[in-house]
Amino acid sequence: MVVSAQLNQEPKKITKKFFSELNNLENITPALKKKKGFTNYQELMTYIEEKVQKYPELVSSNFIGESQKGKKIPILYIIKNSDDDIKKLRVWMQGGLHGNEPASTESLLYLIHLILENPAYKYLLDKIDLAILPMANIDGFLKNDRYAANGLDLNRDHTKIMAPETKASKRAFAKFDPHVALDFHEYRPFRKDFAQLSTFGISNPYDVMFLHTGNLNVPENIRQIIDTLFVANAKKSLDKLNLRHRHYIKSEKYKGEIHFSTGSNTARSSSNFYALNNGIATLFEIRGVGIGKTSFKRRINSGLAVGFSFLKTAYENSNFIFEQIDIANSQSNDIVLQHERSIYEDIIKAIDIESNELIDFTTTMHSSKDSYAISKIDRPLVYIIKKK
Ligand SMILES: [Zn+2]
Repeated sequence: MVVSAQLNQEPKKITKKFFSELNNLENITPALKKKKGFTNYQELMTYIEEKVQKYPELVSSNFIGESQKGKKIPILYIIKNSDDDIKKLRVWMQGGLHGNEPASTESLLYLIHLILENPAYKYLLDKIDLAILPMANIDGFLKNDRYAANGLDLNRDHTKIMAPETKASKRAFAKFDPHVALDFHEYRPFRKDFAQLSTFGISNPYDVMFLHTGNLNVPENIRQIIDTLFVANAKKSLDKLNLRHRHYIKSEKYKGEIHFSTGSNTARSSSNFYALNNGIATLFEIRGVGIGKTSFKRRINSGLAVGFSFLKTAYENSNFIFEQIDIANSQSNDIVLQHERSIYEDIIKAIDIESNELIDFTTTMHSSKDSYAISKIDRPLVYIIKKK
């Protein structure tokens, strides 16, 4: 039996029917300029240096530290100095934390181009200071490998902070102190488990999936704003381009069966960790791991739609966001020690590989997005951390 869902190449009939290319982008970023391969280190550095040289009054760049293989990790700041006393929101965007998710980096490089070159976006800088870390895991990216050079998953390292890349990005993040943070990723549309579903397997049909926090220790108002304002607006932007989206799902084995889970609340991963600092944080996943450059412009369009939607939402609601973050910072809710995910029957869309049709797939969903507390304590006044 041919198990298509385990293949690393997307069957052409699926691309043709469900992921037609969007050809509205110019070939102006490194990976778009060439037929094969993705942005390499030299191209990344040249691209950034060109922007700094062309717009010295707006753009500055810096190195936040070094990768394990000794590559300096660049960050770019786009900040418009103005004489007026407008309080500006700080927005942090990062990509390439997993090295095999190339459209995350390329979307950010294209976003940099548009915000600088396209007059339609310039106004955003009147109320927003922007920090962009386009290739957070350089060693992994250059090998098209998810992990850092020592095998660590950098998006599971936010609490232990073991990798030098994590230390460097934490320092830069804390220094910039963003109000809004957006982490660009890609996901694998052909998972191993998917081969066992339906007759000859299924593939995930969503152009974008949103993974924002369900962590109950993130203040309720912050969780609401992320979900009903920022992510809701981003979904509308994707609708305009006819791009499919939903809340993040992945398959998982549960007592020998394949179930699905949705949402996330572990502080080890970026969007939860950032939201626990009372920031408006979201991670999103573009459909792209393991399919090379298939539908690459469509994937970059997905990244741009979400990225610009977040910037516009921040711009249009800046006063509200300042107020709400103040409310979150002054709140003294109980601390949730343990939680459980809610479990329910759910219907997800899937591409049936045999028939090449979009089908409704009924599954058991384990939701971190709708988790509930099973034990709580009063918020401590202080924490004492003993020296070992
Ligand atoms: Zn990722």
